[in-house]
Amino acid sequence: MGDLRGSLLLLFSPDSGARAVRHLMDSPHFAPLESMVEAMYDVVTIGAEVSGVVAPMEAQKSGLTYMVIDADQVFSNLGNVPEGKPIDTYPSAMIPAGDLQFDGQTKALLTEDLESQLTDAEVSVRSGCIHRIEKRDGLWWLHQETDAGMVETPLRA
Ligand SMILES: Cc1cc2nc3c(=O)[nH]c(=O)nc-3n(C[C@H](O)[C@H](O)[C@H](O)COP(=O)(O)OP(=O)(O)OC[C@H]3O[C@@H](n4cnc5c(N)ncnc54)[C@H](O)[C@@H]3O)c2cc1C
Repeated sequence: MGDLRGSLLLLFSPDSGARAVRHLMDSPHFAPLESMVEAMYDVVTIGAEVSGVVAPMEAQKSGLTYMVIDADQVFSNLGNVPEGKPIDTYPSAMIPAGDLQFDGQTKALLTEDLESQLTDAEVSVRSGCIHRIEKRDGLWWLHQETDAGMVETPLRA
């Protein structure tokens, strides 16, 4: 959803991630896949940071299929926050949409707590770097860089 180099988006990012899935489900043009179709998903998130994790949690809760993929690691933005720096959760009264709770006030406490919530939600994250997204033949295609070259995955999302 867009990290703006340390801007205080920690609550706004998951809020928009959850709302994006709710918006999709409310769309009259959207119908969930009726069964698991290999390599096709209702919801795809690129980047397993807070927004990219809360969206599949929301999708899973609603019975949608999803894929999450990250080029680095889960919560890597938070991993870059210097040790000991307090985490400013602004605005303090905001309760973001979705099921992630933001209780820790330091990087260590917050990431540990978020990772535990992700484990409890049983959301699995794939490793990989998405090179580009293309619309072709009525589908969206993810172009992923792999050791074996570029791999294309068709999406419904
Ligand atoms: C040093 C620092 C301090 C901060 N302090 C605070 C604070 O005190 N309070 C606050 O509210 N916010 C703070 N922030 C900002 C907050 O951490 C971010 O706004 C939030 O984590 C962004 O979440 P997001 O879901 O929008 O991430 P996104 O930017 O949507 O996702 C980033 C993830 O996407 C992955 N990715 C990127 N490109 C690709 C690709 N092509 N293929 C696959 N994966 C990809 C990256 O590996 C990364 O894991 C800070 C950020 C930094 C860096």
